Amino acid sequence: MSLAGDYGDDWRLVTRQLSDGVVTVSQAELHELLRTAVEVRIAEDLPLSVPSEIAAALDEELSELESSFTDADFSHDIDTLAPELFPPCMTALLSRMRDAETLPAHSEFTLVSFLASIGLDADEILSLCEVRESGRGDRLRARIERVRDERTTQFAPPSCATLQAYDDCVNQDQRCETVTHPLVYYEDALDENGTVTDWRDR
Ligand code: SF4
Repeated sequence: MSLAGDYGDDWRLVTRQLSDGVVTVSQAELHELLRTAVEVRIAEDLPLSVPSEIAAALDEELSELESSFTDADFSHDIDTLAPELFPPCMTALLSRMRDAETLPAHSEFTLVSFLASIGLDADEILSLCEVRESGRGDRLRARIERVRDERTTQFAPPSCATLQAYDDCVNQDQRCETVTHPLVYYEDALDENGTVTDWRDR
């Protein structure tokens, strides 16, 4: 079962067996449903805050995860906003957001953490994404604030490998072959293009 909403024909209601008005599932399907529900629930609230006593017990696993998320050599001091130089994955996510598509939680987290990492605050992210306040905007603002609160610690945007796993690595170009992280792509593109006018000053 995919988090991206492509559940496949086997999960369509019309193909399921009904018994006294109840849809039956096998034990293996039940486990898959539960696993996906937990995954969705966690992704919706990313980044999570974890009580310190639980975090301490997970130190080792956390280090491994952090190294896989931040397995890239980027300087974290990008402060220029030039959407035309974004990596293709972020361009695609931004375009979907501007089209008012409801992104899967992990994709929204990816885009927001990327934008926060290049220095945008909540108002700037909402403006760039063309999302107005109320409803969708309020929910997005809450996620942005959580990401920005934590971004000085472990919440770099996911690596290319993670984006590939979630089918968010799309429209790869030549530069993609030289990087393992979207931030490195953007940093290299900025370096190569020299002086660019910041989107906020246009
Ligand atoms: S290779 Fe990396 S930078 Fe390029 S589109 Fe895929 S995830 Fe983005």
